[in-house]
Amino acid sequence: MNPERLLIYNAHLGSIAGEWQPGWLLTEGKTIYRMGAGEPPELEASTVTRRIDAGGRALIPGFIDLHVHGAMGHDTMDASPDGLREMSRFYARHGVTAFLATTWTASREETLAAVQNVAQLTGPLPGGATLLGAHLEGPYLNPAKCGAQDARQIRRADPHEALEFLDTGCVRLLALAPEFTENLWLIDECSRRGITVAAGHTTAGYEEMRLAAARGLRQVTHCYNGMQGFDHRSLGTVGAALAIPEIDCELIADNIHVHPAAQKILVDVKGLQHVILITDAIRGAGLPDGEFAIGDRMVTIQDGAVRLPNGSLAGSVLTMENALRNASRSTGRPLQESWVMSSHNAARAIGIAEHKGSLETGKDADLVLLDADYSVNMTVVEGRVIFERAAADPTRM
Ligand SMILES: [Zn+2]
Repeated sequence: MNPERLLIYNAHLGSIAGEWQPGWLLTEGKTIYRMGAGEPPELEASTVTRRIDAGGRALIPGFIDLHVHGAMGHDTMDASPDGLREMSRFYARHGVTAFLATTWTASREETLAAVQNVAQLTGPLPGGATLLGAHLEGPYLNPAKCGAQDARQIRRADPHEALEFLDTGCVRLLALAPEFTENLWLIDECSRRGITVAAGHTTAGYEEMRLAAARGLRQVTHCYNGMQGFDHRSLGTVGAALAIPEIDCELIADNIHVHPAAQKILVDVKGLQHVILITDAIRGAGLPDGEFAIGDRMVTIQDGAVRLPNGSLAGSVLTMENALRNASRSTGRPLQESWVMSSHNAARAIGIAEHKGSLETGKDADLVLLDADYSVNMTVVEGRVIFERAAADPTRM
């Protein structure tokens, strides 16, 4: 049997070179087979599975969310295969084609169960986004910046425990607090294994961040949130992230975690190539407002904000399409420039840019077709149409 071929034409294609031109793209199996400007080539009808008129919409690489905990009532920490599958289907409806299932700070047993579950499911998931692996957000953080992380469970990196997590083979990103010298060996170990290390829930200052970057730390977890703020004499983690060129910055662009003007400062200083949009979404994403448990604590979701009883923000109910829309507007950058923040930068950050994160011949056919208002019209994961909005569908969330 011949592999499936999708021909998407009459689209505006984003490219790394910055070109933004009307054109077409042909998939074959799971990869991008050919693409070009203008009218599509004449292809024998029998060689194309489906022809899709994009109606002039933007066709960009599918979103890659490196930092997402849950959705639709499920959470990575539940260690449930069905939970991860349902999460992946929800994300795909919002344009995500690949994601890292992200843990919270928890006991060794709970964390190991969650990571082992991710390891078992890593790869394409039926009807959903591809699971790329796990992001360990903790437990080696700083309780002084715990945010919604459970301070009672935060600890220093014990080699026996941490190596057990890493030996599952699915960890692609790990967030730690580099101001604790007991955590520094883990930066070396992760770098050696090709696992990206971020500074998160941390009070690390400029010098500590420089030392950590010299050992291989390359990212900050949700920039501005859960870290020491900027002062012109004491730069804090925020100042270090802005000043150190090797460091990429995750950003929760829900306009609640970070003021739109602070989003613009970040992009203006770091450049579009070094800002990675994430959702940090929790199990309440996709559900109506109400109360949910995170571990043994309750959070309230109201008007797009997730808060602990003390008022602290506890993750989000953001989707990637909304993140890209917000970030584009707050930074004043058009989609033809801003799209790198929702896919390409993430792919590069975890070392998979050879396969994902840009529209190029031979790369995975991970695609999202966006309306002019950034809402998702269609999601293609590795050459399969996973989601398409019906023409008259009024549920344009
Ligand atoms: Zn998180």
